[in-house]
Amino acid sequence: MTTTQQFDLVLKNGHVVDPANNIDGRFDVGIKYGKIASVINNINLDMADDTIDVEGQIVMPGHIDTHAHVSSVFGNDTNRAYGHAMLVESGTTTALDLAGNPTLMAEGMLQRGAGLNVASLMGLVPHSTISEDDPRPSVVRDVINNTKKQGGIGVKLLGGYHPFTPEASSNVVKAANEQMAWVAFHVGTKDSGSDMTGLREVPDITDNGRLHVAHINSYTRGMVDEPHEEVREALTLIERMRSQWVTEAYLAQINGTNGLCDENGDVVYNVAQNCLKARGYPTTDKGIKASLLDGYGSALTARGGRVITVTGEEAVKIWESAATNASLSYPVNPPTSAFSLATAKYDDETFKVDAISTDGGSLPRNVAIQRTMALVAFGALTISEAVIKLSYSPSRMMGLLNKGQLSEGADADITVVNPRTGKATMSLVAGELIMLNRRVVGKGGTWLILEEGRKAAESKGLPYEIINLEESKMYENWN
Ligand SMILES: [Zn+2]
Repeated sequence: MTTTQQFDLVLKNGHVVDPANNIDGRFDVGIKYGKIASVINNINLDMADDTIDVEGQIVMPGHIDTHAHVSSVFGNDTNRAYGHAMLVESGTTTALDLAGNPTLMAEGMLQRGAGLNVASLMGLVPHSTISEDDPRPSVVRDVINNTKKQGGIGVKLLGGYHPFTPEASSNVVKAANEQMAWVAFHVGTKDSGSDMTGLREVPDITDNGRLHVAHINSYTRGMVDEPHEEVREALTLIERMRSQWVTEAYLAQINGTNGLCDENGDVVYNVAQNCLKARGYPTTDKGIKASLLDGYGSALTARGGRVITVTGEEAVKIWESAATNASLSYPVNPPTSAFSLATAKYDDETFKVDAISTDGGSLPRNVAIQRTMALVAFGALTISEAVIKLSYSPSRMMGLLNKGQLSEGADADITVVNPRTGKATMSLVAGELIMLNRRVVGKGGTWLILEEGRKAAESKGLPYEIINLEESKMYENWN
């Protein structure tokens, strides 16, 4: 850079961690036109139009959450758009909305956006977002095609809630691959559960294709085997499918599920059944009620513009007044599984599970940054490795080559973290503050779409950026 360069903003004196450029030390970060302009030892304040002192704080490329929820097509809609603010408060700058509806996501971003970059998937819900329960290939192709035009980047198989046959699941993967659309799988089919039995089927369902296998930790809860045996098996499958799968796992203990019961009082969804079985409750409405009254289960409810969990009588009231179709949560994720999946590496030092996600957003468990920093404090990850799992690797996963690193010309998406608390204290997207001291200061957002979604983005009037999935790890060396 030249000495006459003027920066729009300079972050002074931070502990900059940028593994892509081998940076881990005290530097100043100069930002201009929304891009990283310089990372050097000392930027003269005369060259800064604005400056923020981040002495003692970690400055990293912004957290990219590859599994979040900011819109929802299942359950009630109270948690529809609160996820934007909830992710931003915890330090996230980019999110993949994993089972929404792109149009609802965009509307939520207009109403309650907090400055995030968001790419959206269409959750495949029979008779709602897809016309058939056992969809024929032509139906799947049309849904994927339409999703792209609506601004989505692909689809998600909701095997824990709306399982298809293995064959139909495989057809979804194949159709998405043929159209180079994103395809994520919450595992489980009509032949298996949303657990290790479901994960075992996924190599066959993937066939020669590419797939995002969602929240690996969810299949290592000890439903089929001891958790550590399930982790070992999951990692073996991931290794076998190394060139075909991208994966993430989250670090929260609590999950998210739905308490829907049928007319006989039986719990409908496999995930909710598993939560009850884990503690010996019957998989019925009585079991759900008892689990809520005991404080094992919680119900989600919106309060003060955020989603929170409540338990006891209050939770029962919420669940009953929603005619059982309510979002619930159970502490079913063993910390040992979370730890092992977050830290497991190949011999070449790359991570077996690509990314640490939240599976949060509108679910109040946006702890990815904080818990990853706890792993650093514990000595299980270096600070550079933490940034790889939170930012660099997710950026490669999705083909966001201008993010996940702080090279000159990269997007000035930055998360600043207090190393003592492990919590994010500030974040910027394109050089603009979106969060300061855990208060949202951003608005709206940027919609990450495929080329086919341009018209949808323009008609909504949202700023957008086009993702090229040819550059994603999912489609690396594809064709
Ligand atoms: Zn999820």
